[in-house]
Amino acid sequence: MSGVPAQKETIQESELSQKLRRLSYDDANKCVQCGYCLPVCPTYESMGKESQSPRGRINLVKMAAEGKVDILQDLAEPIDLCLGCRACEVACPVNVPYGSIYEAAKEVIAEQQKVERNDSKNKTKFRDITMNHLFPKHKRLRAVGNMVWVYQKAG
Ligand code: SF4
Ligand code: SF4
Repeated sequence: MSGVPAQKETIQESELSQKLRRLSYDDANKCVQCGYCLPVCPTYESMGKESQSPRGRINLVKMAAEGKVDILQDLAEPIDLCLGCRACEVACPVNVPYGSIYEAAKEVIAEQQKVERNDSKNKTKFRDITMNHLFPKHKRLRAVGNMVWVYQKAG
């Protein structure tokens, strides 16, 4: 299958991948990979990539739930580009509930994005505190140290 990233054992199972597992793993495992849904999927038809097909997206959700791919780097874009039309659900011979898998993925991606935003805000806050409060003091300390050194040298 082209377009679906290889499994990465290094990515740790996060709380959110565990949540994704709880919400959608059983449903995703119902997919038998037959591909009957591919011809009805507008994004697969237009992009021709497995990762932009229902089967590919379901696989990515499974892999993200297992902590084998990254929720934001690997899963967010295919889910974002899905139209949510659910034509794939109608075409599926084994009734894979794509809609619930899709909704669970969207929920977890949104939460992960929130976590990233908060992380980045905290980093900015930490940098501002460091720059505004610690460094000026550090500079002042160095200036005092230099003065003491000059004083000592001068006897
Ligand atoms: S919901 Fe529509 S766009 Fe999304 S995977 Fe199914 S058929 Fe494709
Ligand atoms: S038709 Fe159903 S079982 Fe077949 S690949 Fe698509 S989602 Fe999976």
